Amino acid sequence: MSTRVRFAPSPTGYLHIGGLRTALYNVLLAQGQGGSAILRIEDTDRSRFVADAEQDIITSLAWAGLHFDESPVAGGDRGPYRQSERTRHYSDAAQTLLDQGHAYLAFDTPEELDTLRSTKTSDGQAPPRYSASTRGSMKNSLSLAVGDVERLVAEGVPHVIRLRVPEDEVVTFSDIVRGEVSFNSNEVDDQILVKSDGMPTYHLANVVDDHLMGITHVIRGEEWLSSTPKHVLLYRFLGWDVPAMAHLPLILSPTGGKLSKRNAESQGIPVFVSDYQAEGYEPEALLNYIAFLGWNPGTDQEIFDLDELAGVFTLERVGSSGVQFSIDKLRWFNEQHLRRLDAEVLSSRVRTHLDTAGLDVADDYLSAVLDLMRDRISFAADVAAARYFFEDPDRYDEKGIAKRWKDDSGPLLTAYAARLDEASNLDAETAETVLRDLAEERQVGAGRIIHPCRLAVSGVTFGPGLFELMELLGRSTCVRRLRSAVTRLA
Ligand code: GLU
Repeated sequence: MSTRVRFAPSPTGYLHIGGLRTALYNVLLAQGQGGSAILRIEDTDRSRFVADAEQDIITSLAWAGLHFDESPVAGGDRGPYRQSERTRHYSDAAQTLLDQGHAYLAFDTPEELDTLRSTKTSDGQAPPRYSASTRGSMKNSLSLAVGDVERLVAEGVPHVIRLRVPEDEVVTFSDIVRGEVSFNSNEVDDQILVKSDGMPTYHLANVVDDHLMGITHVIRGEEWLSSTPKHVLLYRFLGWDVPAMAHLPLILSPTGGKLSKRNAESQGIPVFVSDYQAEGYEPEALLNYIAFLGWNPGTDQEIFDLDELAGVFTLERVGSSGVQFSIDKLRWFNEQHLRRLDAEVLSSRVRTHLDTAGLDVADDYLSAVLDLMRDRISFAADVAAARYFFEDPDRYDEKGIAKRWKDDSGPLLTAYAARLDEASNLDAETAETVLRDLAEERQVGAGRIIHPCRLAVSGVTFGPGLFELMELLGRSTCVRRLRSAVTRLA
């Protein structure tokens, strides 16, 4: 049986970093095993529906480079891939469960449910749930006479369909990440399967679709672990096999606790995948980094592209304990991937930023800039931010001036500019020799010229090797910038 996995986001918000990791692990397993990855949109909760969320999820996955064989966009044999278009299947399953006594109708009003939940327990335990021990005193098709139930339905009294969870049973399933997991059925409530508006809840729709779509492995976040006993019961009652289960560990905040939207934002950690894109992270780096949030290859290798990851990924190497998110580590991955990017790909990514900055740069020149900068940047945008490659500085770093611009800087740079002007050709070696000779003649350390020279040429105090930079900028540009700084900083 070939592997079929699914990423099943609800369009209740934009794709976040945890969702991207779930999507990635699914795609890696499918790709590594020559199976299929399915994207299914779980949009039955209309109360939390966000209109542009589905579009954001699809665009973000595409930006990241994650491919789905079947999806609302690509289509496929087992579609449609949006749950709101599949309601017939859920009604059929609910009817089967009702017919076989594994589900029942419940007519309780919100007030009656509140009364149940606020009932005080003598021993200070959790308030009672809607379950085998309480359903007899609630208003449902198990407690009411058949005639009353028929009358309520005929009168159009709002009702839901609930799962009839058996009493005193241990529900066990095996999870690839966690081993054998057991829940006592008394801890599981009689989950609503179909709401009063006729829409299925996540639990019913999810199980029906995983079955109908032939899903072999369910890979999802730990937050769904406690729902799994309900799903296992549904599979059993419907006479279906339970897929292999793998619940991924939590992603933790650097300060501890689950990485929530709020604590991520307060620590400057982007939440949504589109934010990582906007902040200039390379998709390959982001995927590589999040692959390690819960998994490791068992070797020292850290840098992987997607195909390499798919080649070594196994669910057996996913850990069960939470993993801390580190923005510094992600930045490191970004640097490493920039260094490895194919020259043309790097140029085109840098060019996007140059275009945004309104900088029109020739191909040859850009490739020479990238030779100098590739190993020094954290983001592709850093190249466009180094304006001195493309235009004369219009101001000079204040702290740099305070620290590096001395009384003799003007005369030294004037002399240096004059000598460079005479040199037949300005390569890095000439720039350096001329500078060192001048320093020796004037009996000053070379730094006395190097530092103000860098300020004059670039406006800032850091960057690539000064003499390489000067060679790239060319003689007339260097001479002009030196003279202009002398005038402006006098
Ligand atoms: N729709 C659920 C979500 O938004 C899917 C959970 C699962 O994969 O079963 O995360």
